[in-house]
Amino acid sequence: MRKKIVAGNWKMFQNSFSIKDFIEDFPPLVADIDDIEHIIFPPFVYLNLFQAQNKIPYGAQNMHFEERGAFTGEISAGMLRDLGCKFVLIGHSERRHIFKETPEMLEKKILAALQDELTPIYCIGEKIEERRSGKTFEVLSSQLRDGLSEVRDLTKVIIAYEPVWAIGTGETATPEIAEEAHVFIRSELETIMPGISEDISVLYGGSVKPENTKELIKMKNIDGFLVGGASLKPETLAQISRFSVEEK
Ligand code: PEP
Repeated sequence: MRKKIVAGNWKMFQNSFSIKDFIEDFPPLVADIDDIEHIIFPPFVYLNLFQAQNKIPYGAQNMHFEERGAFTGEISAGMLRDLGCKFVLIGHSERRHIFKETPEMLEKKILAALQDELTPIYCIGEKIEERRSGKTFEVLSSQLRDGLSEVRDLTKVIIAYEPVWAIGTGETATPEIAEEAHVFIRSELETIMPGISEDISVLYGGSVKPENTKELIKMKNIDGFLVGGASLKPETLAQISRFSVEEK
């Protein structure tokens, strides 16, 4: 059975004070919501603050695919495990487009994460010019195949559909556009590994906020959200989570 998930990607935001407050304030706000998994992705240097608590599952925003070596500034999956991470974001559009991570690198990262028993949240999504030129499905298909073809058990992976044009722009995909992409993603997963697609959580990400959560979560193939800006404040993330249970 696939899980419902509300995850917060904090990018390069927050500091030790705001994070300590979040860790104290968020759990009571969602204490009565038990069928959603909440996951926070703080900047690397604050993972230790999450390690010191046991209420909020957490993960890293990135990792290197090698186990160890002369890779200044990089962090391995084993090191993340050591800090208690259970999850890692792979292929976020900012990693793909600003830091030029290639499909080959992302595939290696996914395999390395799984090897170290981290659950990868594999982010995929088309750019606006790709959507306008009718290439959305082609892009999603190759991102899925490039990243996942060598994965032995796809049920250990979570997918986040994040159209690049909706990330941090305030422009959300309509529920219909998001659902159409999610249906396509599930059908592609089914071709990559028959029989498992109904067990894989497919999250939507891109300017999710309390105001648009209700309509998005009603869609049958949207299993939750990867939230950027709106995840920084405990009250807002808790609101997204609450609407996600009430409206599903
Ligand atoms: C993200 O960082 O994955 C994201 C979807 O950001 P935002 O919610 O701010 O668009």
